Amino acid sequence: MPRTRRRLVVLDPATACGDGSPPGSDPAHDDDHFHDHCGVFAIHGHTEAANLAYLGLHALQHRGQESAGIVTSDGQQLFAHRAMGLVQDAFSQDQLARLPGRLAIGHVRYSTAGGSHLKNAQPFAVDYARGSLAVCHNGNLTNADELRAELEARGSIFQSSSDTEVLVHLVAMSGAAAIEDRVADALARVQGAYSLLFLTEDTILAVRDPMGIRPLCLGILPASGNSQRRDAHVVASEPTAFDLIGAEFVRDVEPGEMILIDESGVRSRRLAEQAPPHMCVFEFVYFARPDSRLGGKSVYEVRKTLGEQLAKEHPVEADVVIPVPDSGVPSAIGYAAALGIPFEMGLIRSHYVGRTFIEPQQSIRHFGVRLKLNPVEPILRGKRVVVVDDSMVRGTTARKLVKMVRDAGAREVHLRISSPPTEWPCYYGIDTPTRRELIASSHSVLEIARYVTVDTLGYLSLEGMLAAVARVPTPEVPARPATPPAAGSGYCHACFSGQYAIPFVATARKQVRLVGV
Ligand code: SF4
Repeated sequence: MPRTRRRLVVLDPATACGDGSPPGSDPAHDDDHFHDHCGVFAIHGHTEAANLAYLGLHALQHRGQESAGIVTSDGQQLFAHRAMGLVQDAFSQDQLARLPGRLAIGHVRYSTAGGSHLKNAQPFAVDYARGSLAVCHNGNLTNADELRAELEARGSIFQSSSDTEVLVHLVAMSGAAAIEDRVADALARVQGAYSLLFLTEDTILAVRDPMGIRPLCLGILPASGNSQRRDAHVVASEPTAFDLIGAEFVRDVEPGEMILIDESGVRSRRLAEQAPPHMCVFEFVYFARPDSRLGGKSVYEVRKTLGEQLAKEHPVEADVVIPVPDSGVPSAIGYAAALGIPFEMGLIRSHYVGRTFIEPQQSIRHFGVRLKLNPVEPILRGKRVVVVDDSMVRGTTARKLVKMVRDAGAREVHLRISSPPTEWPCYYGIDTPTRRELIASSHSVLEIARYVTVDTLGYLSLEGMLAAVARVPTPEVPARPATPPAAGSGYCHACFSGQYAIPFVATARKQVRLVGV
């Protein structure tokens, strides 16, 4: 039957802060870390769905700063707005007011090489033969290139370079009637890491991949009175998104589970056989907010325990322990406490680094790194200093930092990293450089120490990292004192070990990369 009415409304992107052109140089991203691609948030059954999605995305801003988007449903049609920039820049009050309805999904995205464009911003929203559909994704589909080539050969036209759009086509092409069956059909064809949110006119579906590589959790926002008589249900990448809106954490979405939320409530469906769990251990090391809980474990407590383990493996005589803020703080606290060395904030981070800047023509000492971090000279002068960071990728920032600490008068500089050397790229939704760019892939620890010009350098061992994570208790599961083997730990650690749980296959268009399984 011909449709006479548009069911999907896309707000004019020209009114957004970004125009689809790549953002300028971004010092906030110019550091030496892996970066998470995305954060997702959903709410079902609240009169202020768009506003609460906006706040939820705010709390997930650390997971992606390139673009933000929200799609809502008023029960009849979908309304979408996506824009480049931070959440606070991507939405005005007026734009939020033009996203009506009691259902919403939202997304924040981190820029990836070649992919910085509004067309790749999520959620994607389309009209198709069965209605309207929006989808957003945290992760990476490892066979997306294969599927895309197959779909294009059959006539599908893609609007973006994102792997998530493949899912939209697969759902649209399914022969099943119910949306949950269509999504199940689509997901039966994909491999990789995914925490996904789908939105139709009346339903939200939340799905986590069979290995649970990227996090996803379910919460409830209790009814608050006349305008909100029923509990609303929420889903987010991290439970910190619930704290900001007053929602309560219910549980993690299980690996391989689909959660359906509609007017009749919340239902669960198992999509895939339970595979050995492989949650990304780097979420604990760096990606997640320290005030989050993942798999029931406090991220802050895990980071502190990583620091304690680091002290066991690489103690040193020193006068002061300083973190590389912010992510190195809990590990530095654990390291200092374990060795009885004073902990100080010897580097101060600027929290007001904007998205664009122009570097002065005249060379300024340590300009790039100093824009974010500045040393506190009285803490450092004449001291033997231990600098604790969570990870090192290229080593370029560490080198500049060490020089800055030495220039501030430190007598000795000892660098401690609260994770193992990152030798391998990630294919599961994390922005990583090529293997060649990872300093640890081609240099020994001694060579890296020489490059970053430290007196000593110590990385946490893989076994030590996994043991430290296991030591932190969950409310339900007591701490496991034994050291678990690297394989079968319950966590993905491929970027440290090269042990990939899911193969990555790319077509010739993006060059074939088949990595070890
Ligand atoms: Fe996380 Fe590393 Fe595994 Fe990627 S490869 S999912 S960053 S542990």
